[in-house]
Amino acid sequence: MSARIIDGKGIAQEIRAELAKKVAEMTTQGNQPGLAVVLVGDDPASAVYVRQKRRACEEIGIRSVIHRLPADISQQELLSLVEECNQDKSIHGILVQLPLPDGLNEEEVIEAISPAKDVDGFHPINVGRLQIGKGGSIPCTPAGVVELVRRTGTPIEGKHVVVVGRSNIVGKPAATLFLQENATVTICHSRTKDVAAECRRADILVAAVGRPRLVKKDWIKPGAIVIDVGINRVDGKLVGDVDFDEVKDVAGAITPVPGGVGPMTIAMLMKATVEAALRA
Ligand code: NDP
Repeated sequence: MSARIIDGKGIAQEIRAELAKKVAEMTTQGNQPGLAVVLVGDDPASAVYVRQKRRACEEIGIRSVIHRLPADISQQELLSLVEECNQDKSIHGILVQLPLPDGLNEEEVIEAISPAKDVDGFHPINVGRLQIGKGGSIPCTPAGVVELVRRTGTPIEGKHVVVVGRSNIVGKPAATLFLQENATVTICHSRTKDVAAECRRADILVAAVGRPRLVKKDWIKPGAIVIDVGINRVDGKLVGDVDFDEVKDVAGAITPVPGGVGPMTIAMLMKATVEAALRA
């Protein structure tokens, strides 16, 4: 059996097209969504992500303002810029591209973003709201993961979801979102005794580890849905946390890397910006 490939790129494109229509209406009504992206320093990966976000904004009709700042900017200057964006009524979403260069306090910067404009969902208020199921912004990557599973048409309720990875930006919020969808959730991490055995129990497996091709064929329950969040560069090529070539023979559906979760992250960021503008 060969798994159905979940076309994250295509699904993200559909979402972007839906958003473009919505944004056109909002713009006619004088409420064009605006996103401020703050890029500090010259990390090449961050520069690529920011370019992708700007392009997505252009395509959808969201106004984007990119603030490019030198790596040696002071914490105070960065906080002042965030505050300016908080006050700017034409900006509905603020995204500070992480990681920040050494010497800058990421936590303090995230907490300076107005929770209403925190489209990344990293502000402690939004993290708390997510935990108690009270809305707020949801981190874009886990939101994209759940959306990909939904679009396979398989009901999530009652399924056993195993999330490998417990980071604050992917693993933990993904587990919370699946719990809210009434799945039974197991979270694995580096101290889990037998990760493979846990994974074999998964109807839906989410790999968010950052270890190239860690998840093998014999970790997969036949027919499971496998969502690979990992982005790893091996010999100049992007590979996921799942050994795609062998796992696709056992899984029922699987996301490729690239072209799976990555494009969904950006689509969900665009969606979060539009929703923030609607709330404003
Ligand atoms: P982190 O490094 O923050 O977290 C990795 C997690 O994996 C940790 O919880 C760690 O456990 C766990 N882990 C590490 N090794 C093992 C192991 N051998 N077995 C089981 N668990 C293990 O990574 P992120 O969550 O930020 O990112 C994960 C991956 O997703 C990366 O490849 C990243 O590039 C990618 N990513 C992709 C995005 C996208 O848009 N597609 C967006 C964000 C991230 P412990 O907590 O015990 O250390």
